[in-house]
Amino acid sequence: MDDVIAVHAFRDNYIWLAPGSKPGIVAVVDPGDADPVITALTARGLTPAFVLCTHHHGDHVGGVEALTRRYDIPVYGPAAESIPGVTHPVGDGDIVGSDAGGRYRVLAVPGHTRGHVAYVGAGRVFCGDTLFAAGCGRLFEGTAFQLHTSLMRLAALPPDTLVYCGHEYTLANLAFARAVEPDNADILAFERRCRRRLAAGEPTIPSTIADERAVNPFLRAAAPAVRRAAARRGDQRSDTDAAVFATLRRWKDDFKG
Ligand code: ZN
Ligand code: FE
Repeated sequence: MDDVIAVHAFRDNYIWLAPGSKPGIVAVVDPGDADPVITALTARGLTPAFVLCTHHHGDHVGGVEALTRRYDIPVYGPAAESIPGVTHPVGDGDIVGSDAGGRYRVLAVPGHTRGHVAYVGAGRVFCGDTLFAAGCGRLFEGTAFQLHTSLMRLAALPPDTLVYCGHEYTLANLAFARAVEPDNADILAFERRCRRRLAAGEPTIPSTIADERAVNPFLRAAAPAVRRAAARRGDQRSDTDAAVFATLRRWKDDFKG
């Protein structure tokens, strides 16, 4: 297993503690709440090197200021969004972090929010609320075309990249994935694996980019079965991948598993 630590927050948020290159040093990703992070760091004797923020929603950044009152560390966040406590605004292509805490490449992935970014490093991607296991974020500030483009950028990462998203939404997402592609055996196998993990008290996260390409309907707009399902929904012309994606996103908004 990968040695990233999941800190649970609120109902279904994950705050990630990602190991750097120096033992005991971690990056803190999307600290929506400070207390559980401080508790986890203290209990494990870990030192935070810096904070990575993917987007401005409170469940991802609400703990930044309390955390930096306790630890004097840099806070990276999207330059296109205003996030209290960010010391280092970042944009697409920037390399952030440190030798001890690890280096990450910033990927602009707008759609869920206008300035949403992902952080790629050490074979992992921290993607906030853009790509979820078997799903994707809602469109709050961007267009379907933007979010589809962002998801395609993430899908193009190496297949073995570990995907760390911000919420435990996986089973609900899989119910939708099955509705879109009832005959996709990879979805059923993936769901069995996720149920095993949950039964063992573990997150279903991380998945891999390869998993997502196999099971996530929002990355599969080009697959014939997904195109047919979108066409049956028929609420608009689905003649491009982005249009298929837009139909899926609206369908999921109304979907009751
Ligand atoms: Zn969000
Ligand atoms: Fe969120």
